[in-house]
Amino acid sequence: MLNIGSTVPLEHGGHATITDILGSGGQGTVYRAEYSGKEYALKIYFPNKLKSPDLFRENLRALTEDKNSDRAFLMPLMLTDNIDGSFGFLMDLIPKEYKPFSDILNARVKLQGLYSVVNSAIRITSAFRTLHNSGKSYQDINDGGFFIRPSDGDVLICDCDNIAPYGEHLGIAGKPGYMAPETVRGEKAPDKYTDRYSLAVVLFRLLLRGDPLEGCKVLKSVCLTEEAERRHYGFEPVFVYDPVDDSNRPVRGVHNNIIKFWQIMPDYIREAFIFSFTVGLREPQKRLIEKQWLDLLKRLRGEIVSCSCGIQNFLSAMDTDENGKLVCMCKNHFSKPLELKGGKAGVLLSESAKLFDDNVKPIGEVVRNKKNPALWGLKNLSESDWSYILPNGEERTAKSGGAVPIFLGTKITIGENSFSVEE
Ligand SMILES: [Zn+2]
Repeated sequence: MLNIGSTVPLEHGGHATITDILGSGGQGTVYRAEYSGKEYALKIYFPNKLKSPDLFRENLRALTEDKNSDRAFLMPLMLTDNIDGSFGFLMDLIPKEYKPFSDILNARVKLQGLYSVVNSAIRITSAFRTLHNSGKSYQDINDGGFFIRPSDGDVLICDCDNIAPYGEHLGIAGKPGYMAPETVRGEKAPDKYTDRYSLAVVLFRLLLRGDPLEGCKVLKSVCLTEEAERRHYGFEPVFVYDPVDDSNRPVRGVHNNIIKFWQIMPDYIREAFIFSFTVGLREPQKRLIEKQWLDLLKRLRGEIVSCSCGIQNFLSAMDTDENGKLVCMCKNHFSKPLELKGGKAGVLLSESAKLFDDNVKPIGEVVRNKKNPALWGLKNLSESDWSYILPNGEERTAKSGGAVPIFLGTKITIGENSFSVEE
């Protein structure tokens, strides 16, 4: 262990000074360090803990030179020189407003509203899409490496030092409960297919707040020994909602979250999870690719309905009355909102509904007209102008900060995409 105040020589010259000890893991210790007037995280590996240190270092160097990774990944920035038979690297610190995914799963931290929940799922998925498209895999997807900003669902992913090109395996196996069954069985080293299994687990945990393979069958193992763990997650995995095998259903009183949230998910999300944890358990090549998840998640985000009381719900979770109106938990009845259609996913234009760009930054929001609250508009929160055509054929522009009146038949052009307001 290095002490506070120690200096660490960097490969390309200069020194980092250790200012705090942030924590220790299986591979090494992470410090807070100052370099060139800025604070960083500094990870130093334990000597002799890496299987092939030279290969590992070479891979780390390639990662420091990778300039095309998704901004979610906190990549190694600079390598250190050799220090007492070991080495390490500098990376950016995780800002305070980002909270550990594990705290969110344990409900110690709450994401603010459904937009944050779905946006974090979208950010995680699109970061892995970029990574896999560049020919690399993360190899160790689990709740320990993810940090989420509760206010908007933005994501940062650390532990990026095991990222490697396909075919290269740095000796990491993964975390139980997130590992693909074939990795648990010891048949296969992590790759993009095992990453995709782990991604489905992360999405399931995020949306349903439980373990997709932990039902009554697993509870019967009085204590989860390593052998029992290998059986439930490797050799005999059964999805809790497997449509043809009900031997591992969630247990009321233990898995209440899964039971509650499974009921309110739309069919297309349930089907994606059923596929992922039945066919996808056994046939890695058939697992959903990131693009498929992104389309489903964007559709889900567009079906978030906000009531004027502030409660948000997925459309699929809302009751309707005898007149076909939606019923909020606050007892308010309101008509199904008009929908902004265009591209693959529509967006229901309920009060305070939001439109996002690919970085989950809001670019539009449904607002009421201040002078005439019966009139609704889509406020332009982006930097660029939107052009739109009213149902009477009149062409107009909504500048940044302006709003497009929402009438059935209004057509809007945002960037290169055209949308229309439909029923
Ligand atoms: Zn309400």
